Amino acid sequence: MKKLLIVALLIVVMCPINAQKKQDVKLTRQEQKFKKILDEYDVIDYLPYYSDEEGETFWNAIVDNNEEFQKFLKMIPESKGWKKEIFQEVYRGNKLSYNEQIPYARSFKDIDWMEMFFKSHYGNINIHYSTLDYVNASTLPLGDVFVYSGLVDILEHYEEMVAVLAHEFAHFMYQHSMQWAYSCEKQKRKNKTIATITAVVSAAADMYATMNGANTTGSSEANSKYYDSIFESAKNKSLKYQFRYSKDQELQADIIAYRFLDWMGMGHENMIVVLEKLRKQNPMADYEDEEKADHPLLKNRIALLKFIEKYDSMKQNQK
Ligand SMILES: [Zn+2]
Repeated sequence: MKKLLIVALLIVVMCPINAQKKQDVKLTRQEQKFKKILDEYDVIDYLPYYSDEEGETFWNAIVDNNEEFQKFLKMIPESKGWKKEIFQEVYRGNKLSYNEQIPYARSFKDIDWMEMFFKSHYGNINIHYSTLDYVNASTLPLGDVFVYSGLVDILEHYEEMVAVLAHEFAHFMYQHSMQWAYSCEKQKRKNKTIATITAVVSAAADMYATMNGANTTGSSEANSKYYDSIFESAKNKSLKYQFRYSKDQELQADIIAYRFLDWMGMGHENMIVVLEKLRKQNPMADYEDEEKADHPLLKNRIALLKFIEKYDSMKQNQK
């Protein structure tokens, strides 16, 4: 009885404190999810002060301070056995689709200032403008960014293009496609299908090398059909590597683009503007089931970025 009384007293005493705390950080279920994502991926705490001469300090900081990515980088040269095999496969896959891309692209030269801006801030990156009318941009692991004409057409301001490129650049700096391919392969390896896939890609890579080396042997029709089918499936696989990121990686790139725009004094709202424009392109996508989709829904990407202001003020209050 005595014990019960003490417990009851404690509850009474603690309640007002609890209530007070809860009032400070009252978040909806979605906001709680966003907070978790930001706790994991936000970079604001370790950004250096903006310096005109050292634009790349932003990117150095986000790479140097990302423990998970540093671990991943360390793993590449140290990999042995199946891990090493996976990295080799990923590299081959990248090379295959890399060569596929180039003929469709021309340099982004017609907007000289854009290329100059990015060269000065990002170092050795090449921006390609593709006349294909996809409303999209993509990045290859070696630093070539492709911006498709469909996307350029809907952008109106310089800052919006910076937002797009910063998002892409985040994918590049964190080698997202490599990380994602690695985790996909790891999963497949677990499912014991890796052996077949590895054989297919290796054969296709050899075939590709032969084709380019002009030293073709055994070019019977049956052979070439066989190689065509191998090459086709390998190409599909490498394309899958290249242009798909995990949902979390997309959100991470959005958050970094948001922070980069602010860091540059260009206004984070431009990232939201771009996402709103993309959303307008396909309003029905709002009704997709995000659980089943392989990408985060635009409406949720926007909601996450809009939550950052609240997140920042919450952190301010905690200090
Ligand atoms: Zn992306």
